[in-house]
Amino acid sequence: MNPAELVRPEVLALSAYHVPPAEGMVKLDAMENPYPLPETLRRELAEALSRVELNRYPDPSGAKLRELLRRKMKVPAGFEVMLGNGSDELLQIAVLALARPGAAMMFPAPTFVMYSMYGTLAGMKVHAVPLREDFSFDARAFIARMSAERPALVFIAYPNNPSGVLYPEEDVAAVVRAAPGAVVLDEAYHAFAGKSFMHRLAEFPNLLVLRTVSKLGLAGIRLGYLAGSPAWIEQLNKVRSPYNVNVLTQTAACFLLERLEVLEEQAARIREERGRLARALAALPGVHVFPSEANFILARVPGADRVHAALLARKVLVKNLNSPATRECLRVTVGTPEENRILLDALRECLQK
Ligand SMILES: *Cc1c(COP(=O)(O)O)cnc(C)c1O
Repeated sequence: MNPAELVRPEVLALSAYHVPPAEGMVKLDAMENPYPLPETLRRELAEALSRVELNRYPDPSGAKLRELLRRKMKVPAGFEVMLGNGSDELLQIAVLALARPGAAMMFPAPTFVMYSMYGTLAGMKVHAVPLREDFSFDARAFIARMSAERPALVFIAYPNNPSGVLYPEEDVAAVVRAAPGAVVLDEAYHAFAGKSFMHRLAEFPNLLVLRTVSKLGLAGIRLGYLAGSPAWIEQLNKVRSPYNVNVLTQTAACFLLERLEVLEEQAARIREERGRLARALAALPGVHVFPSEANFILARVPGADRVHAALLARKVLVKNLNSPATRECLRVTVGTPEENRILLDALRECLQK
């Protein structure tokens, strides 16, 4: 039997999310925090994990972890939190819940590829509204498109990926106010932006704030969280698979949230290093750097395909985004000072040729 005769056309048309091999590479392609946990903390964490009852199902809603997140992440009183296996799962849950027949979703683009992927899979009409040439946000144009298409769901990455651009707060607020449906504000990079709508949840009954611990330094445990009114979370929770966040993740997250200052200090180092790296990249011949409030930098590099291949040959892995929407763009994650130096040296060599 040929699977292609049975599989949905939307699925046949997709290509799977590609993750290149990274063994032995300076890995600057996936917005990971480059710093490991301190040795003593690792030992204490191992001890905590050794006490986990692997024979038991996890707490189904992660009550203890949710309470800790509400406190540590300053979720306003009266608002609920739900957990996801990565924030990816929560994006998918929001889409599945809102994909009524004929419903539309909308987002400024280019942006995180999973928005359109989940929308397409759920059979929604997907409207990608172009950003300006410099990846800044034309809120008036977006609001005009919303009144034409009436999307049930809007996604805004704040700051955006892959550009790193943080849209002006009042533009985002205007979109949330004007939206005819739900707005999921994806704050995956909040730790590096210093800006958030979390404290403004009460102003907007249609707003949901999505976060992840991945970019903060815990990409391996797969944990995202979504904050919103109890009325929204009650509905979205029905779409969530039971026990979607495993016991090891719940235990590790609780342990590290109690010691959040360690990760916040690492984020502060990354922010500082981001400034240095951006200035050094901008000083390279022909390179244009877009302003980033995230833990990565998007740069337009002459001959991006060739430079990307030349970096690979030097064991430096960055993301090649060369395509019509992000012409000649490479996206580099901010690494340790040493990793950034290796990247810059390699780039200097590649650009001279
Ligand atoms: C990385 C990223 C995510 C996914 O994060 P996970 O929690 O690791 O699934 C979501 N949104 C944006 C904008 C991202 O860049």
